[in-house]
Amino acid sequence: MFDETKENSIEKELSKCSRCGLCLENCPIYSIKKDENNTSRGLICKLSGYKKGILTEKEVKKGLKICLNCTKCKSGCPSLVDTTSVFAYKNALLNPSLFSQRVFLILKLLPLKLVYILNFFKSRPKTKKSDILYFKGCVAKAQHKKTYLDKLFFNPEFSCCGLPYLTSGDIKNYKKAKEKNISLINSAKLVVFDCASCKKAVEEYGNIDKNKLLFFNDLIENKIKIKDNSKYRNKTITFHKPCHMDENEFLKTEEFLKNIKGINYKRLENYSDCCGFGGSYFIFHPIISTKIALKKAKNIKITNPNLILTICPSCTLGLRFNQLISFNFKKTLELRDFIDKETEICK
Ligand code: SF4
Ligand code: SF4
Repeated sequence: MFDETKENSIEKELSKCSRCGLCLENCPIYSIKKDENNTSRGLICKLSGYKKGILTEKEVKKGLKICLNCTKCKSGCPSLVDTTSVFAYKNALLNPSLFSQRVFLILKLLPLKLVYILNFFKSRPKTKKSDILYFKGCVAKAQHKKTYLDKLFFNPEFSCCGLPYLTSGDIKNYKKAKEKNISLINSAKLVVFDCASCKKAVEEYGNIDKNKLLFFNDLIENKIKIKDNSKYRNKTITFHKPCHMDENEFLKTEEFLKNIKGINYKRLENYSDCCGFGGSYFIFHPIISTKIALKKAKNIKITNPNLILTICPSCTLGLRFNQLISFNFKKTLELRDFIDKETEICK
């Protein structure tokens, strides 16, 4: 991961890129804009030019202002370029002053802060002492949401995963959050997540045992069934793969869903296409976000499920939004809430 004290680490990442362009086909923004300025390859070329003194800082700053930070370019890169580090370097270059980083961060976190204020007087959920820790996503935390995972695992005061700091160029606070989380993770036997973006951000810290990091459903008893009185009994259920979820994690989750008795699982058409919401991305880039959402809505229409599940609160909002604008109105739930409310252990 990017460390501003190690300039040579960014040089190394830039030199790894073979300019093959495979990242273009995975990039949701490129699929809409068809502009190399907004892809990781374009940015890598520009940063290389900047490092060699060919391009100015101003010219570098022009590109990639509309990146979704979906990390699809990183997961599909044959040269294993750490594009997250490249973007972090670019963000630090874009927002060098603490003031501009803070302003950007405040704007990015505005929707989350509103959720927090609206739920301010709710009591915090009690949690169980356990050596398995529950990394509760920021949205559920801001809502003071009582999830059944609070009863199963210990939910200590983890910091934010750090992604909003990283994407604002605030490397100092990113490192602070990362260090606090690493010390909690190192003391735990396992850590379970209910959000693909938090899990991906924590995995990218380095210096931690990634095998300790699991989705909560990896630890759930496989013998579960839909409740007799559930409205989703014998109904078609599909799953949207968040951009921050790896392919093998998706396949595992799919197996988990197929094993739930009493539902018909159906794979979503182009399941890994981005939902377009990207946290606060919709607020800053509503037109691009809506175009990506409409593409996703088309795939949902083809699949025609009764319920869409996912494992990221931002994707949940994105899918609800795309159902609204496409007049399709299929219900979307987070996997955690579906398991909690609609299923039970088989006797
Ligand atoms: S970042 Fe990776 S996928 Fe993209 S052009 Fe460079 S080597 Fe190819
Ligand atoms: S992070 Fe996502 S949106 Fe940004 S350049 Fe990579 S693939 Fe494109």
